[in-house]
Amino acid sequence: MSSSDTATAPTNFIRNRIRKELEAGQYDQIVTRFPPEPNGYLHMGHAKSIVLNFSLPEEFGGYTNLRFDDTNPAKEEQRYVDAIKEDVRWLGYEWKKECYASDYFKTLYDYALHLIDNGLAYIDSQDADAIREQRGTLTEPGIPSPDRDRDPAESRDLFERMRAGEFEDGTYVLRAKIDMAAPNINLRDPVIYRIRHQAHPRTGTKWCIYPSYDFAHGQSDAIEQITHSLCTLEFEDHRPLYDWLIEHLPVSSRPYQIEFSRLNLDFTVLSKRRLTRLVEEGHVDGWDDPRMPTLAGIRRRGFTPESIRNFCTEIGVTKSESIIPFGELERNLRDDLNVRAPRRMAVLRPLKLVLTNFPAGETEWIEAANHPQDPDFGTRKVALTRELYIEQDDFMEEAPKKFFRLKPGGEVRLRNAFIIQCDEVIKDDAGNVVELHCSFDPESRSGLPGADRKVKGTIHWVSAESAVKAEVRLYDRLFNIPHPGGDKARDFVEHLNPESLEVLEDARLEAGIEDAKPGEHFQFERLGYFVPDPDSTPERPVFNRAVTLRDTWAKLEKQLR
Ligand code: ATP
Ligand code: MG
Repeated sequence: MSSSDTATAPTNFIRNRIRKELEAGQYDQIVTRFPPEPNGYLHMGHAKSIVLNFSLPEEFGGYTNLRFDDTNPAKEEQRYVDAIKEDVRWLGYEWKKECYASDYFKTLYDYALHLIDNGLAYIDSQDADAIREQRGTLTEPGIPSPDRDRDPAESRDLFERMRAGEFEDGTYVLRAKIDMAAPNINLRDPVIYRIRHQAHPRTGTKWCIYPSYDFAHGQSDAIEQITHSLCTLEFEDHRPLYDWLIEHLPVSSRPYQIEFSRLNLDFTVLSKRRLTRLVEEGHVDGWDDPRMPTLAGIRRRGFTPESIRNFCTEIGVTKSESIIPFGELERNLRDDLNVRAPRRMAVLRPLKLVLTNFPAGETEWIEAANHPQDPDFGTRKVALTRELYIEQDDFMEEAPKKFFRLKPGGEVRLRNAFIIQCDEVIKDDAGNVVELHCSFDPESRSGLPGADRKVKGTIHWVSAESAVKAEVRLYDRLFNIPHPGGDKARDFVEHLNPESLEVLEDARLEAGIEDAKPGEHFQFERLGYFVPDPDSTPERPVFNRAVTLRDTWAKLEKQLR
């Protein structure tokens, strides 16, 4: 991976295991896959899986496939396939083969026949409810189906006729014949094929029977010669079933499944089902709403692939469940952008400031550094004029002692310029402050004797004449409780944070950045890191705040925990 990945990989049990296997000569190379179901957009949890699956072969030699687990035609769509590919590439990874479980439908069908012919699968004519009722519980064994001992020849005939479309949905299912008394319920004759008269995005109407996820998944891994099938812990109990199938089928390779814990982030939800609901019910503005924990959302918000890879590396891979503070993700972004983002000045909530001793109609061009530590970023010319804008909250009329920004009679340094003093406060009829009249100290410019004169505060500003009007969107946590999807929560949509989006229509940006494109990052001094939104045009710039400069949530999170 690229050299800008700064997180040092803490070693983990999967890496250690693979290293030992390679040392023992068990493999020449390792082959992994990332297996999304194309029924939604990828989220941060998927990023954890992607980084793990792609980084292991990068480190040890081998490759990764992108496999679409498209066995459920009811929910899967091509647009999700396209979005998933875009997101994986954006994260910085390229797969070796683009595969689809649906490409293996014929092989999987033949495997099913193999089980039937060997007395290891049978056609059951019971409906889904009856099968569920007979499954038993953790303490009671299951009840065998009356069809369990159906003659294999008869099962084969029925299965072939299922495939030919002779029966309606639900008439029959194919079940593996394993053990109705197995302590692991997944082994109690699981359903492996269903009738479903539904067109598939890739195979069209060619098939009207579809394999279950459990039947397709392990065999797809075997067909692709995957050496290590990495998945999340909820599949641990399915592993005995996958192993049973692999042992009883004429597969050409033997994948080994290793489970790890899912990524959970606080103040958000990481489940496609819940994210789909947020989109469909209109709680957010689509899958790429910048408040969403989807890769499309955080990309639009301004997150970088480097920061996400670093985050995923830093959190490590274990078998224990944990919830990572969202702030950890933001810290990685700050660390990344601090070294990469040029600085600019912008005013989010403008207050007019007139420099009474600055000549009207003149523009002075001030040389400003684009990065405080890195001279490679160069400098730019910033327009200084008689009329400026400063941030409304950088002025306070009745200021407490500790307020070091601008107050009546007080002094403050204008960033990159000089020291000013507030001489007069202009108000409208309602008593609102509308303008400040200030005078500047010419001796306090950089290079002059007064340049080092100390005042307690420095504030940013833009020229009222040349600044560009822009819309700025500020984002906050999508939910207002740490675990909106947790057991103690009500329906998670009731915990949406009504203040997760604040739109400022009247912000002013230093001239020149209206031409920036999505993906270009800036630090607006003292305000945070910002990117142009895809909605942005030079005529109507729209910027998103990706992250603030400091973690304002850390304290609050501790209280809420
Ligand atoms: P969801 O729970 O959001 O519906 P999923 O597991 O159904 O996700 P898939 O498309 O099947 O979504 O997932 C593709 C891969 O990503 C799987 O290997 C899955 O284990 C992994 N994955 C999904 N969510 C997470 C997560 N939160 N943390 C780590 N890996 C995840
Ligand atoms: Mg899944």
